[in-house]
Amino acid sequence: MTTNDCLFCKIIAGEIPSTKVYEDETTYAFKDINPKAKVHVLIVPRTHYANVAELAKADPAELAHIVEVAQSIADKEFHGDYRLIFNTGLDAGQTVFHVHAHVLTGEQLDE
Ligand code: AMP
Ligand code: ZN
Repeated sequence: MTTNDCLFCKIIAGEIPSTKVYEDETTYAFKDINPKAKVHVLIVPRTHYANVAELAKADPAELAHIVEVAQSIADKEFHGDYRLIFNTGLDAGQTVFHVHAHVLTGEQLDE
């Protein structure tokens, strides 16, 4: 998939609406349209990488930054606890091939 037909590239560009939670020069965070917890946020790098392994290789500082953003969302929305998920590959449930961290927080989560 090229960045031209990537759903999350379009969301980052503002071509598809989203509910912004956080943004900075490199990173955008928005509410998941189908929340699996009281607070379910997706954090994405503005640059297109297909998955977390590609991101880790190309820009490890951005991956660390995404963890920082997740922590700050959980600090604000809850008492700092959260679940961070990167579905990687079709058989792991990845449906959008622009790397995104799912941040689940805002309530006690099932084990
Ligand atoms: P994954 O299955 O890990 O690739 O996650 C993709 C996520 O994107 C799912 O949790 C969807 O609910 C979410 N999603 C799909 N389309 C949108 C959209 N337009 N705005 C916000 N979240 C979306
Ligand atoms: Zn993309």
